[in-house]
Amino acid sequence: MSALAASAAVFPTNTTLTELLSNKDGLLSFGQVLNNVATMQPQLSFMEKYWASWYMYMNNDRLATGVMFFLLHEFMYFFRCAPWFIIDNLRFLQKWKIQPTKKPSAKEQLHCLKSVLLSHFLVEAIPIWTFHPMCEKLGITMEVPFPSWQKMTLEISLFFFLEDMWHYWAHRLFHYGIFYKYIHKQHHRYAAPFGLAAEYAHPAETLSLGFGTVGMPILYCLYTKNLHLFTLCLWITLRLFQAVDSHSGYDFPWSLNKFLPFWAGAEHHDLHHHYFIGNYASSFRWWDYYLDTEAGPEAKMEREERMKKKNN
Ligand SMILES: [Zn+2]
Ligand SMILES: [Zn+2]
Repeated sequence: MSALAASAAVFPTNTTLTELLSNKDGLLSFGQVLNNVATMQPQLSFMEKYWASWYMYMNNDRLATGVMFFLLHEFMYFFRCAPWFIIDNLRFLQKWKIQPTKKPSAKEQLHCLKSVLLSHFLVEAIPIWTFHPMCEKLGITMEVPFPSWQKMTLEISLFFFLEDMWHYWAHRLFHYGIFYKYIHKQHHRYAAPFGLAAEYAHPAETLSLGFGTVGMPILYCLYTKNLHLFTLCLWITLRLFQAVDSHSGYDFPWSLNKFLPFWAGAEHHDLHHHYFIGNYASSFRWWDYYLDTEAGPEAKMEREERMKKKNN
């Protein structure tokens, strides 16, 4: 692979600029590359400068995308889990814990942490490291400047909708017979979930439910031939935040579901872990509402009332 081809992702139409900015001999520090990018491309935004500098500094697009995705996933996951560790130890916030009598012990949390780390390095590392060649084939771009905020917001909203739909049906299937017994049972080890338990799952579950997160944008790109890798980074970060928050075990007066009534949040998913049935969707409440699969005693009572009325 030539030096030019090794870092051609961010300025694909400007080979002179790529040649000038590339860290070909690996002698420049990241700060020096960033300085060069800022001098030659002052019109770029703060994030775009860092993005372009990363690819130029690494001088190997495949490695740059792989390392970036792996670090993004690790950092965002644990960054979002950390506040819940702290909140678990703040007494004045315990009145908002959904299942206050069930607290995970330090031993349980350590077991979960070890399992999640093993899964990150063995299971999730594979698709992350093979991501760049797939992006090249699909035409997912890494160029700067990024697409507009409006385009990215629309695409991320669509991904939330599609992932939620996939999650509802795949998760519902995981509650049937052998799928539950041999695969999904692992995720239900904790009847009162906590943030870190979001990705505590059998590898087959991680890969199949993960299709909703990665596969849906791929299908979108196959159809539109127009998707930016930065949009994917934002989407994966927000999806990670959603997954960790829904397992947090806390429902605050300021939680998102209090402002967006169709947002699922922790209250929705906690009931799923508590009763082992119902509330299969990830981000939104509509699938469980319209298909009558809401979990918990209140939903059960409503269902029974409706049945009575129907039979009279
Ligand atoms: Zn389940
Ligand atoms: Zn769960």
